[in-house]
Amino acid sequence: MFVHNKRLQYTVRVAAPNPGLANLLLEQFGGPQGELAAACRYFTQAVGEDDPGRKDLLFDIATEELSHLEIIGSIVAMLNKGAKGQLSEAVESEAELYRSLTGGGNDSHTTALLYGGGPALTNSAGVPWTAAYIDTIGEPTADLRSNIAAEARAKIVYERLINVTDDPGIKEALGFLMTREIAHQKSFEKALHSIQPNFPQGKLPGVPEFTNVYYNMSSGNDARGPWNDGADWKFIEDPQPAVDGGDGLATVGVSAEDIDVLKAMAARTASDATSDPKTGADLGSGQA
Ligand code: MN
Ligand code: MN
Repeated sequence: MFVHNKRLQYTVRVAAPNPGLANLLLEQFGGPQGELAAACRYFTQAVGEDDPGRKDLLFDIATEELSHLEIIGSIVAMLNKGAKGQLSEAVESEAELYRSLTGGGNDSHTTALLYGGGPALTNSAGVPWTAAYIDTIGEPTADLRSNIAAEARAKIVYERLINVTDDPGIKEALGFLMTREIAHQKSFEKALHSIQPNFPQGKLPGVPEFTNVYYNMSSGNDARGPWNDGADWKFIEDPQPAVDGGDGLATVGVSAEDIDVLKAMAARTASDATSDPKTGADLGSGQA
């Protein structure tokens, strides 16, 4: 079950309304790296998890992400307070209202007009939130790695948002949210490495002859480093088809009837390399 406490996980002090900034912050409300995506990602993983340690961890973090959603949504709501009243009560002249909504140079007018100044489940460009942001595959050694990357991306978006506001209260709250993503990243890393082995993911090992091979597939300005050099790696300077030793062609076994049909289709759609067809371009250019 869920219970709700009306006090936030972190106190929100917004100095003054700013619809443009509110719109930017929507990135962490309904964007791909935002708190709703994080909460849904970990909540669904927790429900499907059987390991008691990971289940508890995922439920704790999912619920904390909902608390973050509440914080960021509250900041958005505070930043829109002025615009919300002005829009619904029309106390300003039309021109002033228009300027206040569009003056930030971003899409704040969209969220203000469409969503009445409340926190909308969109990103900062007004794109609706989608479950497609969540890439859970149902295998903890893969999902924990994706969770670590998701936390890293959320941390970076917060860092960028901190850099676009000089409001000390907002900077502080965003700093808290950013820092919690670091803590989550650490927990997910610990959880990943508490599963041994965790690489490669899943049950099947890699095919030995291809597992530690580096193919130099883009030639010119080749750089060597630990990612392709050293005792771990067999470096193939000039890869050629086919690395399995076969002829590199695709084949399939089909029935005699299908062969006849495929041959008839090939004959019907065969191209004549000796033809010189007139085209619409020729007609249009007056050269037909
Ligand atoms: Mn969060
Ligand atoms: Mn997090």
